[in-house]
Amino acid sequence: MSGTSLRCRVCERELPLAPVSACPACHGPVDVAYDLTEARLVGGDGAPRSMWRYSDLLPHPPADLDTPGLTPLVAAPRLSEALGIELLLKLEDANPTHSFKDRIAATAVASARAYGFSTVCCASTGNLAEAIAARCAANGLEAVVLCPRGDLPLVPVPAYGARVFGVSGGFDDCRELEQQLESLFPWGFVGGNLHAVAAEGAKTIAYEIFEQLGASLPDAIVSPAASGMLVAKLAQGFAELGELGLWREPPPRLYAAQAGGCPPLASAWADDRPLSRVRPATEVRSLAIGDPVYGELAVGAARVSGGSIVAVPEEEIAARTAFLAELSGVFADSAGGVAVGALLDLVRSGAIAKGDRVVLVVTGSGLKPYGYGVSVTAEEVDFDVDAVLAALGVAPS
Ligand SMILES: [Zn+2]
Repeated sequence: MSGTSLRCRVCERELPLAPVSACPACHGPVDVAYDLTEARLVGGDGAPRSMWRYSDLLPHPPADLDTPGLTPLVAAPRLSEALGIELLLKLEDANPTHSFKDRIAATAVASARAYGFSTVCCASTGNLAEAIAARCAANGLEAVVLCPRGDLPLVPVPAYGARVFGVSGGFDDCRELEQQLESLFPWGFVGGNLHAVAAEGAKTIAYEIFEQLGASLPDAIVSPAASGMLVAKLAQGFAELGELGLWREPPPRLYAAQAGGCPPLASAWADDRPLSRVRPATEVRSLAIGDPVYGELAVGAARVSGGSIVAVPEEEIAARTAFLAELSGVFADSAGGVAVGALLDLVRSGAIAKGDRVVLVVTGSGLKPYGYGVSVTAEEVDFDVDAVLAALGVAPS
């Protein structure tokens, strides 16, 4: 069994699983709905070592089930000790293009194939573009990506044979352009007619955490938030574990972290008001989304779970990225620094208590060209051991 239908989030009308961008009756957003009565979380013996092990709960499983997902969940003992908590890191940088967006691309491209599209288009600040370009390359589909022109030198997608357009403006403008193209081309659009199916990939992080913790869940999850999709889909994943009868306790508290220069979710949270669009002014490219599509769902997920949404000042982010690397050996992109900044804030305020078991989602790698929030400084020395000793302040014997 796979995803059986689409359901309108507003009027709850059921639709057949098909490439639609919005509910034909009320124009509300649509989500994939499953018949969970027959579904199993994990396939039987020999289930794929990838997110496709959950194919009962995903739309259109492809023929190639080897990747992405099933990323490591690792202990961070030095960080745990420093913070007085039990911290685990979910290493999404272990995906094929080094970010959690490979999960979105996998569901998007698998569904594009099922629907018979030969071209997939997306708007992206970088990570999604690379993931879509790579997945399309693997499947022999054309990829057309729309990136903010300012981010272009940082986007490695031409290597995958994708068609790349550098758009004047930011991500939100690219998304609007994607919507306009959707009325003109018979393609799959990750922000349009593939959106509901694409987003489903993100919830598999929740299933993996549950499996990797031996059928249990942490007290809290901290993750970066841009469109709000990840937080909303983590909440959905945990809710589905409940519907499957696998988990009866309250789900983990969900904490979302935003960069101080682009905090539409955090501002709405702090002021307890509806979301409003902001103009991004952040160095964290992957979080520079001023008009978050899953914003209301993300705020709701934080509230219902007992979590919150935190903004991290821009000037702290590079130091937090370095702090993570220094105390865990994990070099995250600057979105990871944002998540760590939020974690420190939450521990300081007591929202995350001593002894809590916490999973921090490392959504992308610092090795991405746009990942650096940390300036790399090196000391130059000659090929000479005495020079190294001198630099270390140790006298040669
Ligand atoms: Zn509707």
